[in-house]
Amino acid sequence: MPETTDQISREAIAARLEDIRERVAQACERAGRDSPPTIVAVSKTFPMRAIANARDLGLEHFGENRARQLRDKARERPGAFKGGDLVWHMVGHLQTNKAKFIARYADWFDALDSTHLAEELNTRAGYNDRTIPCLVQVNITGQEQKYGLPPERVHDFLDQCADYERLNIRGLMAMASYIEAPEDEGQVREEFRLARTLFETYDAASNPQVQMEELSLGMSNDFEIAIEEGSTMVRLGSGLFGPRDYD
Ligand SMILES: *Cc1c(COP(=O)(O)O)cnc(C)c1O
Repeated sequence: MPETTDQISREAIAARLEDIRERVAQACERAGRDSPPTIVAVSKTFPMRAIANARDLGLEHFGENRARQLRDKARERPGAFKGGDLVWHMVGHLQTNKAKFIARYADWFDALDSTHLAEELNTRAGYNDRTIPCLVQVNITGQEQKYGLPPERVHDFLDQCADYERLNIRGLMAMASYIEAPEDEGQVREEFRLARTLFETYDAASNPQVQMEELSLGMSNDFEIAIEEGSTMVRLGSGLFGPRDYD
């Protein structure tokens, strides 16, 4: 075996985080922004040790994309809504039959995309005597995707969320097309702009369940573009923890 360095040691994460913070600052400067986005450290597939190290380095928000993995990790280290010192986000698609895990263990649900799921989450939130902050996921790629609402349905969906008194909609989340070559950057930028327009043009004044505060855009390969286009939350996995074996 070749000598390997520990990808998730505190030192390794610290080095990547320093580079990310620098790139975040530069993107903010290019965009003329004062406040940097929140970093959600996407810890899927990485062990608790990686999470503990990242938390020690000052990161507070952590994301998982599988309900059971989030449950298992949050049992070990509970989220802020249970008095813990970190904030758990469920960033991936949720099957309705797993809504109970999210109501019990996740601080935030960042991928709401159907009334069926909203209904179930709302009920489960009630059983757990809490309110769940959520982001509505939008499909901005213009392609047939399994997840996320089509852009033209987002505002109507937000209106409907007025019925779910235990869900607190805080904004939108979207994933851009994957960048394979530098020429794809323009496409990604267009997609992020679409999300931002939907975010800015929703009139939440008459809907007490919705506050349009967060726009979760950008992952390890496109977060700088996302910041330039107005992201308030970037979701970083491999850029922070190193390569993953699987998703
Ligand atoms: C895995 C994942 C991320 C992070 O992806 P990286 O490319 O590793 O930064 C962000 N958002 C969602 C929804 C994910 O599933």
